[in-house]
Parts: sequence; C-alpha cells; structure tokens
Amino acid sequence: MVKINVKKGVVFNVIGYEFCTLARIVYRVFEKHGIVPTVTSANDGKHLPDSWHYKDLGWDWRIWGVDDPKTPIDEVKQAVDEIRREAQAIDYRYDVIYGDKDHLDHIHTEYDLNKSKPLPTGY
Ligand SMILES: [Zn+2]
Repeated sequence: MVKINVKKGVVFNVIGYEFCTLARIVYRVFEKHGIVPTVTSANDGKHLPDSWHYKDLGWDWRIWGVDDPKTPIDEVKQAVDEIRREAQAIDYRYDVIYGDKDHLDHIHTEYDLNKSKPLPTGY
C-alpha cells in the first residue's frame, strides 16, 4: 500500500511517474518510523523562480516525527540518504535535499530533467 497525505492548499497540476515512483519510496522509508508521509508543497508556495516545483516536478515532505530524540542518530538524514539511494537507483534524475540552511524543516525532492547522466564508476 502507498498512502500520501497532502497538506491543505498544496497544488498538484500533474501526478505522473516521477511523483508516484518517489512516493512509493518515501512511503516505505517513513513507514519504518510509523509515519504516513505528508507533501507540504508541490506546484505552490514560494520557491526560486526556476524551481522544479513550478514545473510539477518538485515536492516537499514533512519530517515531523522521523527523528527519534531519544537516540543520538539523525533519523531524518538516514531516511533522506535511503530515499536518495533508492530513487537514484531507479532514475538518476532524482535529487533529494535536506540539511542545508534552506532545507532544515523539510525534505525537498525533485526530478531534474536537465541532470546529465553520471559517468559509470571507474572513470
Ligand atoms: Zn522544495
């Protein structure tokens, strides 16, 4: 099963492969923390003018409850690393961003159509 909550006011103009594939991964990773993922922004809100959000290929995720304050581990970072690894194994165009100054209270994800294919390892 995959279930995604959507914050009130979030605008989806398109739901395609790019979102569905990512949503399955986010759902499965968050499930380990007993949380149903919530999209807090899609094609709405305030982002950089050239953001993928405005091309229906950027989505923000709530992180409430992912970190366990009883452990010294940053469970959000762990979850992000897992989501990124799995998403990029399916399609290198996925970016999953968390932890810089603009992304401390949510996870930003996007499907970057302009991203060039990484070189095979060994180069
Ligand atoms: Zn974002």
